[in-house]
Amino acid sequence: MRFDAAVLRSYGSPFSVEEVVLDAGPAEGEILVRIAGCGMCRTDLAVRRSAGRSPLPAVLGHEGAGVVVETGGPDTGLSTGDHVVLGFDSCGHCRTCLSAAPAYCDSFASLNLFGGRTEHAARFRDVAGGELAPRWFGQSSFAGYAMVPARNAVRVDASLPVELLGPLGCGFLTGAGAVLNSFGVGPGDTLAVFGAGAVGLAAVMAATAAGAVTVAVDRFPERLALAERFGAVALRAGSSGLADRIRDRTDGGAQYALDTTGSAPLINDALRALRPTGHLGLVARLRSALPLEPGSLDRGRRISHICEGDAVPRLFVPRLTGLWQAGRFPFDQLIRTYPLTDINEAERDCEAGRVVKPVLIP
Ligand SMILES: [Zn+2]
Ligand SMILES: [Zn+2]
Repeated sequence: MRFDAAVLRSYGSPFSVEEVVLDAGPAEGEILVRIAGCGMCRTDLAVRRSAGRSPLPAVLGHEGAGVVVETGGPDTGLSTGDHVVLGFDSCGHCRTCLSAAPAYCDSFASLNLFGGRTEHAARFRDVAGGELAPRWFGQSSFAGYAMVPARNAVRVDASLPVELLGPLGCGFLTGAGAVLNSFGVGPGDTLAVFGAGAVGLAAVMAATAAGAVTVAVDRFPERLALAERFGAVALRAGSSGLADRIRDRTDGGAQYALDTTGSAPLINDALRALRPTGHLGLVARLRSALPLEPGSLDRGRRISHICEGDAVPRLFVPRLTGLWQAGRFPFDQLIRTYPLTDINEAERDCEAGRVVKPVLIP
């Protein structure tokens, strides 16, 4: 079959929306999904800085959602017509997958970032016959269709706006999962969120839904205004005495802090803002060594890296859609939709901070 997709041919070039070819139907355990919408995530754009490790040409996009149009074999657990949110790929049989921690799958990097499953590699081509990287995050959803392992797909209620749900599979799941799964934030807990982008604002919404007191830090006033709208106290990054001001607003120090920026000065501010036994979660990839000030981990404070919100998508995505239906997780307010053909404009807006979460509509 032929359909349009956004192909990235080199690390520095714009996306080119062109016809691509899938030359077989779903293999055993796979499903073919007609994509209704796909979010753009920082990890898609980070491919440009991957130093050649993510193979090109490739169709990126890993926050897809849509409708199942064909299933491979009887064991996918899904049927034609099901609405699905697509998540990240995992092997399903390593120790961490068996421990219900698929985001820490032994094969996470190879399955999601560095080429995907190779067993079907020959099937995805451009119209001239040139090979495309097999599958980005098990999906490659900047496209009209995606062939995915059924394991990646979460069935959702068909009454939901499926074209907007894709970011629940990565960006929003990452922020909300850190708060609800990794930290287990509850009523009256205190949380500081560094960076009010898609991940940080999802964290703010989840914390507000859980009844926590949240402080959000960012350098963009528009994003701080959004954080305030979703229940946080907003503080400007780069202002002096930031940690002290967070401590003032969190009864002497936050129990939890979430850094979405990867900035060493902000991470040190986050540690200074924690109360004893506080927990700092990092979700951004660090690009250099992280200097820590002496004493910053004293008194039971700890740091952990959190991937994909410690979520099992089939359990967590329905929790988030349930919260949305109850009016307590208004993620749709963070989204601006673009036709897939405007993907380069979406990228520019994303990099410039003009949009929190672009969603591309094929
Ligand atoms: Zn695994
Ligand atoms: Zn992502």
